[in-house]
Amino acid sequence: MKLKKKDIRSLTKEQLRNFFVENGDKAFRGNQVFEWLWSKSLHTFEAMTNISIETRQMLEENFVINHIEVDSMQRSKDGTIKNGIRLHDGFIVESVLIPTEKRTTACVSSQVGCSLDCRFCATSRLKRMRNLNPDEIYDQVVAIDKQSKLYHNRKLSNIVFMGMGEPLMNYNNVIKSIDKITSPEGLGMSSKRITVSTSGVPKIIKKMADDEVKFNLAVSLHSAIDSVRTSIMPFNETFPLKELGDALVYWFEKTQRVVTYEYIVWDGINDKKEDIKALINFCKLIPCKVNLIEYNPIDDGEFQQANSRVIDNYISNLEMHDIVVNVRRSRGKDIDAACGQLANKS
Ligand code: SAH
Repeated sequence: MKLKKKDIRSLTKEQLRNFFVENGDKAFRGNQVFEWLWSKSLHTFEAMTNISIETRQMLEENFVINHIEVDSMQRSKDGTIKNGIRLHDGFIVESVLIPTEKRTTACVSSQVGCSLDCRFCATSRLKRMRNLNPDEIYDQVVAIDKQSKLYHNRKLSNIVFMGMGEPLMNYNNVIKSIDKITSPEGLGMSSKRITVSTSGVPKIIKKMADDEVKFNLAVSLHSAIDSVRTSIMPFNETFPLKELGDALVYWFEKTQRVVTYEYIVWDGINDKKEDIKALINFCKLIPCKVNLIEYNPIDDGEFQQANSRVIDNYISNLEMHDIVVNVRRSRGKDIDAACGQLANKS
């Protein structure tokens, strides 16, 4: 029986170099193929024109090149583009291009579906099917970078891991994808322009600090009161705020880097004085900033964004305590491309 061919993109550069040496060629050939696969993002061996036809055939016999495909594309009137991305095994994830005056941001997925159960998020209704491989995350960024150049005449400037999935539940692959995105052999982007957003997995936040990662960390907080947070993010039962707070203190001690808290204010859920007070106390743990994000309704109407008076109250109280607070408008709402709306409707 013939063995299933291996995905050549699962090999490191070193493994690729060794493969060529073991097959009587030069290690350098590995570098050439690596460059085609990553900096040039080629999807066929045939197009690797500086490599002999025999070698290309030999690669064809031994490997496949798994890659993603943009399956569908929707453009919002604000310029946001939502892509349905087909993976090699047929699953679909979504990635979004978000242009603003100064930046173009890619919002990428890290898992097919999500294992968390945030009650206000559309993705949580999709079962987690599998983790994305590093190349599948990297490819989303490449695809969006191309769209950015095509439709907005500029390169991608920022990346946020705020698409489908919980990045810290697929930590190893997320890290490998970021290595590729930042490496000169990949896209050569700066880690400072990358933000990983998490619901907060304390153990992995500590690991990230130990690993001395250089990208930014955002935590989807939404409430600093355990009972409230657990009612909207049941996952908080397993990883309560005390543990999250301890992990964030550890993170700051090791990295000296400010954390962003993402926070939505909902009617009747976290719109009271004690909610604001708890948030202010949580913010005292480490230097941080708060992004108040607009709620993007997901069909059932159970959650309603609080009115502007409540939000202004949050802002003035946070500012009174010298906490930096930004209000984030959502983008791409008309095409269900905004935060929490990614759910493969098509
Ligand atoms: N699992 C990660 C990343 C995906 S969610 C995380 O939890 O951070 C990305 C961001 O969108 C999070 O801040 C999340 O709380 C927010 N979000 C989820 N549903 C939303 C909705 N319906 N409207 C606005 N933001 C939402």
